[in-house]
Amino acid sequence: MNFENMGLSPELLRGISGLGFETPTPIQQEVIPAVLENNGRDIIGLAQTGTGKTAAFGLPILQQTDVNDKTVQALIITPTRELCIQIAGDLNNFGKHIKGLKVAAVYGGANIDSQIKQLRAGVHVIAATPGRMLDLIKRKVADISNIRTLVLDEADEMLNMGFREELDAILENAPENRRTLLFSATMPADVARIANNYMKNPLEITVGKQNSGAENVRHIYYQVHARDRYLALKRIVDANPDIYGIIFCRTRMETKDVADKLMKDGYHADALHGDLSQAQRDQVMKRFRTGALQMLVATDVAARGLDVSDITHIINYNLPQEAEIYTHRSGRTGRAGKSGVSIAIIHYKELGRIRQIEKMIGKKFERKPVPTGEEICKKQLFNLIDRMEKAEVDEEQISPFMDVVNKKLAWLTKEDVIKKFVSLEFNRFSEYYKNAPDLNKKAENDSKQGEKQSFGKSSRYKRKEKGNFARLFLNVGRKDNMSPQRIIGMINDYAKDRDINIGEIDIKDNFSFVEVGDRYKTRVIKALSGKNVKGRKLEVELSQENESRKKKSKKKKRF
Ligand code: AMP
Repeated sequence: MNFENMGLSPELLRGISGLGFETPTPIQQEVIPAVLENNGRDIIGLAQTGTGKTAAFGLPILQQTDVNDKTVQALIITPTRELCIQIAGDLNNFGKHIKGLKVAAVYGGANIDSQIKQLRAGVHVIAATPGRMLDLIKRKVADISNIRTLVLDEADEMLNMGFREELDAILENAPENRRTLLFSATMPADVARIANNYMKNPLEITVGKQNSGAENVRHIYYQVHARDRYLALKRIVDANPDIYGIIFCRTRMETKDVADKLMKDGYHADALHGDLSQAQRDQVMKRFRTGALQMLVATDVAARGLDVSDITHIINYNLPQEAEIYTHRSGRTGRAGKSGVSIAIIHYKELGRIRQIEKMIGKKFERKPVPTGEEICKKQLFNLIDRMEKAEVDEEQISPFMDVVNKKLAWLTKEDVIKKFVSLEFNRFSEYYKNAPDLNKKAENDSKQGEKQSFGKSSRYKRKEKGNFARLFLNVGRKDNMSPQRIIGMINDYAKDRDINIGEIDIKDNFSFVEVGDRYKTRVIKALSGKNVKGRKLEVELSQENESRKKKSKKKKRF
């Protein structure tokens, strides 16, 4: 199938051929004709990012837009500002030759007045983030009563980010006779609920295996002692000199810490997390996109919407709390037909979680030993020689200096010159790794007294470290849109102390538990108590289980 026989207008065909699109991607082949069909059904598209879904829904939406009608005819809701801007940009590119077409991007964290002005001037299609869209609807600036198509893009991400209420409110405001297109990489219960409540007899289109990682991604894990995580990361990075990757951490604090260490150790790395201002985040992303940074250390939330196609490695510095998030992380490499590697650094208790991910992605992980110092030195040496061999020599620029250079080096043999050049860079590694321990042996010794750990609804992330965690009870739960990310975010935002260590987070329907470092419990209780969560007063107290745990541990000396 090609774009020409799909029934797309000549203007759109010109637009996409200008972008170099020749053949439709699998999701485009299925979704474009289905959406173009008048009175067609609602559609659920299960597809990863990078599959071409923007054009899959964007092209038929533009085709069905009547530019003479000055009302909003399509609304696309998307989780992040970056995606929102990207979608509006893509639609403008597709519709470059449609005269009078107006597409607006409205998103939070930016001046609302200019967005209001733009909407008041009249637009045909809006790409929006949920919170800002709802705000504009409430202010009666955005009128969606006439839309024909509503797109929920990356629905699972939006719900993960806690936008459930906003989405419900927007869906309630949309006209009955609209058509709803929902795109999601995964289909957790929350997304299924939206589909059940707000979509009519949807047609399900799955591209690739549901929840599967990209075909050309290798999954590798390294098993080390928890406290050797950073050392293992460094070795993995050093063993891959051409790495261009994202290192995922669980918390802002960890993100900052890993990035700081990498920078201090001389790597081109930086952190991307929610504590940065929008301008700082834009700056970091720009440096990463242009290749000025080799590694981006990020939280899942902050890295959303970052669309870079040549990522060579994804490194899970810590496994995500939900197995599904692993799919989102690893899906950022192996794009556009390239191969990629997704790495997990785990400690001996986490093997169960690897097995669960394997089931989900339908692929096996390879276990690899952490590279030894000697292996890394060899890799670095060959990489250096390779680069030297391939270096382009600009005769014109260099020749004026060659006389002096040759005179200065005349006392050295050719072999000496080579050795010295190589040593210039190589010494850094050989020095560092001279007496480096074998991290694999250390991990094996520790694993003898191991205990298994797995993902699970009631036991999200167990850390039994000598009882130095206090378990807190919170009177809000899944029904209040609580997620591990939100709880960590609240602790970060309200307690304002980056050193607070967070352990197991356990979210029930109406309440939750979170473990915090024992010495921080009072501070966290004080900081969070009384805060407003979606209209409810937050109550935080020491969980009853602390007391019974203490008693048990005294009796049995478990730890
Ligand atoms: P998306 O999943 O919509 O973010 O698209 C991923 C990337 O693939 C974007 O850079 C698109 O410009 C590109 N793309 C989408 N459809 C096609 C196509 N049919 N041919 C070539 N590139 C495409």
